[in-house]
Amino acid sequence: MSEKISQVVDAQRYSADTLEIDISDVSEGAMLVCETLQNNGYDGYLVGGCVRDWMLGLHPKDFDVATNATPEQIRPLFKRARIIGRRFKLVHVHHKREMIEVATYRAAPGDKASQHHKQSESGRVLRDNVYGSLSEDACRRDFTINSLYLDPVAKQVIDYQGGVDDLQNRRLKLIGDPDTRFAEDPVRMLRALRFKAKLGFVIPDDLEALIEKHHDHFRDVSNARLFDETFKLFHHAHAVESWHTLCEHAFLPMLFPLTEDEIERDEIVEDFILRALENTDRRVAQGKPVIPAFFFAVILWHAYLAERNKNPDLSSGREGVYRAAENVFRAQYPVIAIPKRVSSVIIEIWDMQWHLEMRRVKSIDGLLENRRFRAAYDFLLLRQKIGEIDSEIPDWWTRIQDEDDSGKREMVQALPRPKDQRRGRGPRRKKVN
Ligand code: ATP
Ligand code: MG
Repeated sequence: MSEKISQVVDAQRYSADTLEIDISDVSEGAMLVCETLQNNGYDGYLVGGCVRDWMLGLHPKDFDVATNATPEQIRPLFKRARIIGRRFKLVHVHHKREMIEVATYRAAPGDKASQHHKQSESGRVLRDNVYGSLSEDACRRDFTINSLYLDPVAKQVIDYQGGVDDLQNRRLKLIGDPDTRFAEDPVRMLRALRFKAKLGFVIPDDLEALIEKHHDHFRDVSNARLFDETFKLFHHAHAVESWHTLCEHAFLPMLFPLTEDEIERDEIVEDFILRALENTDRRVAQGKPVIPAFFFAVILWHAYLAERNKNPDLSSGREGVYRAAENVFRAQYPVIAIPKRVSSVIIEIWDMQWHLEMRRVKSIDGLLENRRFRAAYDFLLLRQKIGEIDSEIPDWWTRIQDEDDSGKREMVQALPRPKDQRRGRGPRRKKVN
């Protein structure tokens, strides 16, 4: 598998300095992985989004490494490494708090013995786990701008696909025949929209037309992959832009059919979502944590309310909360597989809304100490912004967090006795600002 020398001859090589990539920006873990691979006689290059983002002056947070070593050869080189296999085998190397994904070079579909490749009738690639050379690996990547390899030891960028030129000219170009590449993997369409939203690149007309053409193939994509891609769309400081891009290309009804129905019914639903996405972008820009559960809690909130309202059995009690939530998740699941670890937090956020509104004396302390309090409180503030609840309630929760113990006690004692303690009232409408 040591085609490095002959293959590299065909590539353009640039010094990292001329591309204004500061090697000291490479994380300690990513550097260690590349150095260790190279010291053991293998290639070890950073690849994909991190190289692209550096060249655009952004600060990548996750690092992918490509190598000619097989997973079985990689694993013993590191203290904390494990082989994981989804569509293909990868190695996750852990270093301190970092996780670096190391992938063996793969061949592009059709390059190698065909029994390792499997395609559906529409041309979708179902299996593509054939190892290849560096130049083959460069070919099978999606866009030219994602096909750059950075050797952090030699401080060089290796470019087989003209990615440097395309990056400098802000061109989004698929590698190979675009029609075939979208048919092979419709997720690439969503990735094109993501790069448009994230990087502000224009999608050229021919790709626009193909996105329309392959629109329906998108329905065949695995729901687990769509969870990952949706996460990236909405948790990396370009959530608002991602939302508009998805709407513009009619991807919303495909990704979030229930939400689309609710938006059609009442425009306030989109207002609610956009306010949440603005918050998310602000938080990410400030380096604050964001959790996928919050995003999905927002996106599915009105579908959940509709579920509770239309079904009298589900309109009250904790049981009602769970069953209504399960119905919503079940309807969303064929498109996006929201994992249990996420859906259980969504339910907590939803369930806490009623408790926060009721402010029952005996539950105040528990709510303030609940590990989901912050998320549920932020959610409550959003609901107030669209007039779903009176501002008196979130204001009270805002104030009590700043009080000491005696101040808290006073606030609790001064609470009016709640008259209506029934569960599951529909939201009240009172538009604020
Ligand atoms: P981000 O910075 O948002 O993570 P990324 O381009 O690194 O963007 P990843 O999902 O981390 O996105 O993928 C890493 C690399 O793997 C990509 O840059 C690309 O080279 C390759 N890749 C990912 N998805 C595909 C795909 N569907 N088809 C072909 N290549 C892909
Ligand atoms: Mg990446």
